[in-house]
Amino acid sequence: MNAHDSEKVIGTLIHEGYRQVDTVEDAHYVFYNTCSIRDKAEQKVFNRLQHFRRSDGAGRGKVFAVIGCVAQQEGEKIFERAPHVSLVAGSASYTRLPEMLVQLETGNKRVTGLSLDTDQAFDTPFTRRDNPHRAYITIIEGCDKSCAYCVVPFTRGPERSRTSASVMEEAKRLADSGYTEIQLLGQNVNSYRDPSCTGWDFATLLDRVGTVPGIRRVRFTTSHPRDFVKEIIDVIDSNPNLCNHVHLPVQSGSSRVLSGMQRLYTRDQYMERISWMKNARRPIAITSDIIVGFPGETEKDFEETLALLDEVQYDGLFSFKYSQRPNTAALQLSDHIPEEEKSRRLTVVQEKQRAIQIRQNANLVGTQEEVNVEGYHATLNLWAGRTSRNRTLNFTHAGSETPEELVGKYVQVRVTRGGPNSLAGESVN
Ligand code: SAM
Ligand code: SF4
Repeated sequence: MNAHDSEKVIGTLIHEGYRQVDTVEDAHYVFYNTCSIRDKAEQKVFNRLQHFRRSDGAGRGKVFAVIGCVAQQEGEKIFERAPHVSLVAGSASYTRLPEMLVQLETGNKRVTGLSLDTDQAFDTPFTRRDNPHRAYITIIEGCDKSCAYCVVPFTRGPERSRTSASVMEEAKRLADSGYTEIQLLGQNVNSYRDPSCTGWDFATLLDRVGTVPGIRRVRFTTSHPRDFVKEIIDVIDSNPNLCNHVHLPVQSGSSRVLSGMQRLYTRDQYMERISWMKNARRPIAITSDIIVGFPGETEKDFEETLALLDEVQYDGLFSFKYSQRPNTAALQLSDHIPEEEKSRRLTVVQEKQRAIQIRQNANLVGTQEEVNVEGYHATLNLWAGRTSRNRTLNFTHAGSETPEELVGKYVQVRVTRGGPNSLAGESVN
């Protein structure tokens, strides 16, 4: 989501007449788009800013801007901590960026965009996209949930969906300019509700984007289990252009911890959604997020998470140590888990998941997968691409195409080997 926000911010700046340069040294304006989901991400921003302190000379003559979640969270405190910063703006203020830049150009030394009071999503036709074949489309911004550990509702503001007409128009524009793969984005895409009188829900929007001529693959991330309805699986089953991959973060396998996290579902309700996917007509890859060491997580709770991994057999997993975030409800909880214990639990989860992925990927040996080609490693003479199930597949290809000709195309590949994080194979056409 942040990567795509950067694409939109860059596009907006280029539209205003600015030019993008390759290095920070060459820039007059330096924008840091920031993440504050965990403490580590936040610290990185200040370390980088430190590197360009004007007093050191490296930042002389440059104008520094901090945008995104750290900007929203820390607000004007950033000016105290990094006095060489001139602009601080959260994502809910990106529509005001051109106006804020005018303020800077006219000599204003400190400009802020920190209001969260908006019912608008950042909808711009000026996106400068990084990839010529695969494009992101934000369909919903912000979050109305209040998970006890999470900073997002404080940094990205209330939930606001774009109209289905504007999403469809963007999808058609992308298809017309040669894109074949679209990824629909939102903190909780399945909370999507068309604000226009068309009134589409997420499953309808997903299906319709998957029928845009020229679009061969549609992905979406992230889904919240509470709002995940069976219709989503039904449309994936009926529309082959919808990728057979669902990222459905569980966070914990213990209903007691889920309740403390204010996740709004129990383990059983989560597992019901998993059973819809396991019973789908097409095999659907399932991935998830786990937080270990949430305050009060006992050894028994943790074992329930490990048992859930055994039961679901995820195709991929992002796992994190619980990190205290400002303003969040979990700060009030007692019984914080020591850092070493969190690290131990994280290692156990990651080792278990690695073994599961080795087995899952070994099961794919002998199958044929369609790959959207992403690149070529000349030294290894290997092509790389992604399957509909979102697996990276490295493959040999006997054809004489150049990378310019093959990247972005779809190739049938027979899987010959599986590793923990990727597959290997050979093309069959
Ligand atoms: N909206 C998505 C959902 O509800 O599942 C999650 C979006 S969040 C940006 C991505 C992931 O970061 C979460 O699923 C969670 O696992 C992790 N995360 C969020 N806050 C965290 C915290 N305070 N400590 C550790 N991990 C956290
Ligand atoms: Fe954060 Fe929960 Fe919202 Fe996801 S649903 S962004 S975890 S508050």
